[in-house]
Amino acid sequence: HPKALVIGSGIAGIAAAIRLAVRGFEVEVFEANSYPGGKLSEFQLQGYRFDAGPSLFTLPEQVDELFKLAGKNPEDYFSYQKLEDICHYFWEDGTRITAFADQEKFATEVEKNLGEPRTNIHKALASSAYMYDHLAPLFLHSSLHQFSTWTNREALNSYLKMGRLGIFSTMHKANSKLFSNPKLVQLFNRYATYNGSDPYQTPATLNIIPHLEFNRGAYFPKKGMHDITLSLVRLAESIGVKFHLNTKVEEIVVENKKAVGIRVNGQLIVGDLVVNNMDMVNAYKTLLKNQKQPKKLLNQPKSSSALIFYWGIKKDFPELGLHNIFFSDDYKSEFDAIFKKGTIYADPTIYINISSVLKSDDAPAGGMNWFTMINVPNNQGQDWDHLIGEARKNMLAKIHRILGVNVEPLIEVEDFLDPRTIESRTSSAQGALYGNSSNNRFAAFLRHANYSSDIKNLFFCGGSVHPGGGIPLSLLSAKIMTEFVGR
Ligand code: FAD
Repeated sequence: HPKALVIGSGIAGIAAAIRLAVRGFEVEVFEANSYPGGKLSEFQLQGYRFDAGPSLFTLPEQVDELFKLAGKNPEDYFSYQKLEDICHYFWEDGTRITAFADQEKFATEVEKNLGEPRTNIHKALASSAYMYDHLAPLFLHSSLHQFSTWTNREALNSYLKMGRLGIFSTMHKANSKLFSNPKLVQLFNRYATYNGSDPYQTPATLNIIPHLEFNRGAYFPKKGMHDITLSLVRLAESIGVKFHLNTKVEEIVVENKKAVGIRVNGQLIVGDLVVNNMDMVNAYKTLLKNQKQPKKLLNQPKSSSALIFYWGIKKDFPELGLHNIFFSDDYKSEFDAIFKKGTIYADPTIYINISSVLKSDDAPAGGMNWFTMINVPNNQGQDWDHLIGEARKNMLAKIHRILGVNVEPLIEVEDFLDPRTIESRTSSAQGALYGNSSNNRFAAFLRHANYSSDIKNLFFCGGSVHPGGGIPLSLLSAKIMTEFVGR
């Protein structure tokens, strides 16, 4: 069997390993950490379990597809449920709404609590579906680096509709036209953060994201987000993939413009092809430092990062669901702080994810596991210790104002993650969550291809290359990449 060497066991690295094993490769995965999954990992703190990174799961069929490809029944490995209430939204003036999966119910909620005509919800979600149907085949499911992608019917269809698809407007401008209530504009603007971008800069094409959550559905893996990693690793192992944990790759070895293997602990391990799942910027800096650098791609601005407090809270809050948002009073200033000033805003929008709402053994009885996150700039050498101390105070005060309870004395256990540790634990350049930001309309064209055009037998997958970050796109990167193998 030809041998494939995969560097990194992020979700895309695992998916690539499965796809190549199904194609008949002998596959070995090399992971620097002592655990697989990269950003999609978990940890325990005295009776509380926390998913460390991603918390929102969409397009579960992409995970199922991997089991089916390998001839297995997905249900034997991995189970998930569809969310009926997607997210609980809170504002400082006491306004609260729940986004329901049922569109009629959501429209009623919005009409009742925000005075927004229900038809606007239907219009916005229909428009999001239309955009997705016209943009996804070209920008998400295909390589943008092949001439044939640009000459097929789907592509032509997309060009003809570019104006209508929002490429020339910003997400905020488009949402301001769709909705009359600024709170609803804010709610729909938040989808820019799903790939670490700024709604006041990012093109309105990103309005395809609500389609995934509302029309296709938001899901929760019954054993928690980390089970996506665990069940895919089990699948990979069952079809012969070997994982080497605690094994940092030092170099991609290139001879005569061809990847011939990798270097680990100074030793050469030979392979017929090399798949890199390490963040592209750091991979060129380290593994490929002697090779030609694609400077323009490497210098693209990165997405935002995050500050997360993992709090074991010894109290139940029945008004909170799996996903909760406490909005900032001034969204524009929050994004200016993050993207223009490179700092943390004093009144940040707070996201609280509580998996114990659906998976009760994630917290002791009567308690909740709060994953409390704010968006922050990527790491540019800020004084993080100071900024984090200030942010913690501001977050606790805001939660106090909105819930009417001071949660600080209820925190039984605590840990936190910031841009520095995101980078040191997963090698993400500047601790960005999603690789490059999408803050300009050319961003889609400025991600690295899923293969190297200079070095034969070298392929790329993961959130820092085409088509972008987040679990669904990272999984698609592995799929697109595999299509190039053997061409
Ligand atoms: P990564 O997870 O980046 O992993 C790369 C792996 O490669 C790591 O395990 C690393 O140790 C390994 N590696 C690097 N260098 C080497 C080397 N030299 N040798 C060996 N191994 C190496 N996405 C969503 O879809 N929904 C969400 O709700 C969501 N929320 C997020 C919240 C947070 C806090 C974070 C951090 C991310 C979030 N994301 C979310 C984004 C999502 O986690 C990522 O886009 C996705 O997991 C990236 O996967 P990846 O395959 O690129 O690999």
